[in-house]
Amino acid sequence: MLNELLPKRSIAVLTSGGDSQGMNAALRAVVRTGLSRGVEVYAIHDGYRGMVAGGEAIRKMRWDSVGGILHQGGTIIGTARCDEFRTHEGRLKAAQNLVLHGIDSLVVIGGDGSLTGADLFRREWPGLLQELADAGRISSEQAGAHPHLLLTGLVGSIDNDMFGTDMTIGADTALTRIVEAVDAITSTAASHQRAFVVEVMGRHCGYLALMGAIATGANWVLIPENPPEVDEWEAEMCRVMEAGRETGRRHNLILVAEGATDRRGNPIKSEYVRQVLEERLGLDARVTILGHVQRGGAPTAFDRYHSTMLGAAAVDNLLAADSETQPALIGLRQHDVVSSPLMENVARTHQVAELIAAQQYEKAMEMRGGSFASSYHIYQALVSSRPRPPQSGQPHLNILIFHAGGLAPGMNTAVRAAVRLGLDQGQTMFAAHNGFQGLIDGDIQEMDWMGVHGWVRRGGAELGTSRKAPTKGDLQPIARQLENHRIDAVLMIGGWTGYLGIYELSRWREVFPAFNIPMVCLPNSINNDLPGTELSIGSDTALNNIMVDVDKIKQSAVASSRVFVVEVMGRDCGYLALMSGLATGAERVYLPEEGITLADLQVDVNDLVRDFGKGKRLGLMIRNEHADRIYTTDFLCALFEKEGANLFDVRKAVLGHVQQGGNPSPFDRVQATRLVSASLQYLLSQKEKDPAACVAIGLRRGMPVFTDLDELPDLLEKNAQRPKEQWWLRLRPLARLMSLSDLPQPDQGG
Ligand code: ADP
Repeated sequence: MLNELLPKRSIAVLTSGGDSQGMNAALRAVVRTGLSRGVEVYAIHDGYRGMVAGGEAIRKMRWDSVGGILHQGGTIIGTARCDEFRTHEGRLKAAQNLVLHGIDSLVVIGGDGSLTGADLFRREWPGLLQELADAGRISSEQAGAHPHLLLTGLVGSIDNDMFGTDMTIGADTALTRIVEAVDAITSTAASHQRAFVVEVMGRHCGYLALMGAIATGANWVLIPENPPEVDEWEAEMCRVMEAGRETGRRHNLILVAEGATDRRGNPIKSEYVRQVLEERLGLDARVTILGHVQRGGAPTAFDRYHSTMLGAAAVDNLLAADSETQPALIGLRQHDVVSSPLMENVARTHQVAELIAAQQYEKAMEMRGGSFASSYHIYQALVSSRPRPPQSGQPHLNILIFHAGGLAPGMNTAVRAAVRLGLDQGQTMFAAHNGFQGLIDGDIQEMDWMGVHGWVRRGGAELGTSRKAPTKGDLQPIARQLENHRIDAVLMIGGWTGYLGIYELSRWREVFPAFNIPMVCLPNSINNDLPGTELSIGSDTALNNIMVDVDKIKQSAVASSRVFVVEVMGRDCGYLALMSGLATGAERVYLPEEGITLADLQVDVNDLVRDFGKGKRLGLMIRNEHADRIYTTDFLCALFEKEGANLFDVRKAVLGHVQQGGNPSPFDRVQATRLVSASLQYLLSQKEKDPAACVAIGLRRGMPVFTDLDELPDLLEKNAQRPKEQWWLRLRPLARLMSLSDLPQPDQGG
């Protein structure tokens, strides 16, 4: 009772510095989480400028103030740069405005500049309040009520340039825009035998350029962390371009980070790179500076769901903090939200910039961390790779690649990487067509360098895939084909059927010696239903495909009161349903892990009727295709239609095969390449082992890991096509809370 009489605590959120995609998702999560925790939430418009100006710029937020913004680019509360906040008087005004609103807790979403400014403000706060009280600008009671400013930071930056988080808010979308643009450019480059020099953002950080280069198959990249030798790099770059031309390549693509320099710190401009190509190689070279395209468009699924996770965690961090707590930066380590000291991260970020300025590049690279460095090595291997004969003393293997399972984006990217990295290491690469059927029929071909040209970006599966699992009678023909082609190692790139099939072969090793070779299963399925990995290649693309379609469906509904029941793929795994629900703001997701009960449906009908009765105009229910055998998508539609009566009508959208199509997302391309590289290393290292290992490669905490296939039965759910462990299920309460149409009452979920 007493609590109800006390004034509510007030927190404020602002976006500052350069805008980035996903800021809206973070804002929505901050507002809704804050309100659900019983505090007042204010949004400060236009960053520190609004804080200094006060008045209308500081607005109280309601639950529905942040409705319908997930898909919008930029930030609805605006962002700005503000020189006045750099001055004492500016910060004094800002403190006064906050105190007048009873605000003493801040979530700042911005880059290192904004976060540095916020920390300075926090440290000065007691002095600023004293000064304001002394000058009579606030009362001493007001000053006394807010002795400390509490602060939590989120990093909004497209460059992915901050410590304390694996991914900054907006980096994935920026990378996506770059890759879309470069894909478009390369298609015209190939028809004209042109070279394109593409400049991307990144003053101190080569993340966008490096990952963009891996994802587009660029032939050269220049990044600030690892500049090339003065006077030598031009010749080296030209040599690589020439070698490419000799193998039959028709176009060249060079990515340049805007902060690229040579090893003595002299800037390398894209125009200069173009001149070198033209003058030394006679190439028709063009420069494209992508500029603000990289900040534009709708945020990707990743930027929506991870920013939602971070925004929610920021509020909880702030509410748990006290005057003794150091401000935290809330970031992501793989799929986990982590908190670390804000200013240590800012200091380390500045340190990298200083190391680059001091030309201490090895240290700068080291500080960027393991996966940045390993990505750089993969890029180097791919860019300098060419078909080579095996070196003496090096193992030589005949390696067979094939797909099995449903079609998934990233299959071609993975095959290209496997063929090129394998040939570069002197291995002979074979491919079987159409899954296990090709293996049975002997539909096997040797792969050459140019045979996979352009596959890095191509959706579909050029080799073909099928859901046919090998039966007992197929084992003998498969063994014969492996022997005929003297296959020493197998890389299966695919899904469920592939895993079970390879497991089956491994169990027959004693009967068929041909199966006693190392085999790796690489997870490539949109369903994300495979054991031994947190994510499978293809699921990110599928998630984005779903999101794009649902965005359109939502737009189509503006004119009428309507509920959409959207059915998505995933078989027995609800990953796509839950994550697309988080990324699109669906009211409800139906998952096979939970099933559907009559009681659930009763609650959902009641909620819909209540909310539409209050003026709601759009309902979005996402149902996984196997969520329940009886309560089908048609059943749900009929039920809602009947109960909705005059309040709303209902439409069904079964998204179907669009989910498997389209070019792979940058994330899927980069991870496919990384996993293939690690798989080949593994196969080579297994050559002498007996019995040879059969493993599934996967991503755990962002790093490649191997799981023995013997463990397969223990890892799988009984009678369902999914692993026992699924990290993303823990996001269900967050998805539920975010999707509510209004502030939850004490007896409501969330
Ligand atoms: P970003 O946050 O993207 O790095 P900026 O460096 O431009 O962008 O910072 C955004 C705003 O944050 C600045 O316009 C200023 O208002 C504030 N700011 C940045 N650095 C400081 C600082 N050292 N002291 C006070 N305010 C700062």
